[in-house]
Amino acid sequence: MKWCSSWSRLLAVSLWGLGISTGHCATTELKMLRVTTREEGGVTHFYVQNVEAADVTATFNMHLINLKGSTNFPYTTTFAGNQTVEAFALTPIDHDIPWDYSYDNAFTIGSMSAVHDDTYVYSLPYAPGSVFRVTQGYHGSFSHTGPDEYAIDWKMSVGTTVYAARGGVVVKSKDDSDKGGPDRKYESCANCILIQHSDGTIGIYAHLKKGGNRVKVGDKVSVGDCIGLSGNTGFTSGPHLHFSVFKTRSGKERLSLPVKFKSADDPRMTIVSGRNYKAAPIEVQQVKASAPLGNTVTEKARVGS
Ligand SMILES: [Zn+2]
Repeated sequence: MKWCSSWSRLLAVSLWGLGISTGHCATTELKMLRVTTREEGGVTHFYVQNVEAADVTATFNMHLINLKGSTNFPYTTTFAGNQTVEAFALTPIDHDIPWDYSYDNAFTIGSMSAVHDDTYVYSLPYAPGSVFRVTQGYHGSFSHTGPDEYAIDWKMSVGTTVYAARGGVVVKSKDDSDKGGPDRKYESCANCILIQHSDGTIGIYAHLKKGGNRVKVGDKVSVGDCIGLSGNTGFTSGPHLHFSVFKTRSGKERLSLPVKFKSADDPRMTIVSGRNYKAAPIEVQQVKASAPLGNTVTEKARVGS
């Protein structure tokens, strides 16, 4: 290695990101993060641009020679969607001798600071009154392990309308694929919708039908909104809808979370593999749809009086 005449910098960078691999299910390719550096008075500033609408969590591993960081490494943090921030800076320890660094960086979609609201009860992601069978629930031995430990699969014929299980903001919508089958080569072919909830967790709806998504990135959706059509894209053994709620633990580790659902028969339950579940009516939505504006005003007046 040749040191430069003044300060030396060898930039060896490796970037790798995790797709949304949902076991046998979806993978969506993500551009996610762009890292740029700027040197100013010997200090190297690292800027991170999150090009996704969703939160992305990254872990930086630095290999430093004669440099100290503004933070400790490995450094893991979550970058908010569509923003550029300074992540950290490197300063020479001894200004009279050369310095050098290299780093690698892993990132995955989701927030490490999200704290799931466990009081929230999710709606079944299909039409009120309709019934679907769960073919794989939590800890399903086929593919609901590791980061997909708390995912649920409902057997569902292609083209079934998918409803939001919880409201939030759409942070990913992919429906350009028509490929799928029981082979890992299809992993990157899954269509999906990602909805970021108010508590920072993200709900994923996967294997959707080509051209079926009814939402786009940035859309605000309410629970019970129609968001797309189920399908059989990606690595899948047959038509079904895959759903899970997740956050991250690091740039390398996505974490699915156990959540409660309500059905027509049970106001709060844990879904179990092999059972049929009938979706409950969504009361709030029905009231909104049926109440004329005049009634709403009267209600407010009554409350105020
Ligand atoms: Zn699944």
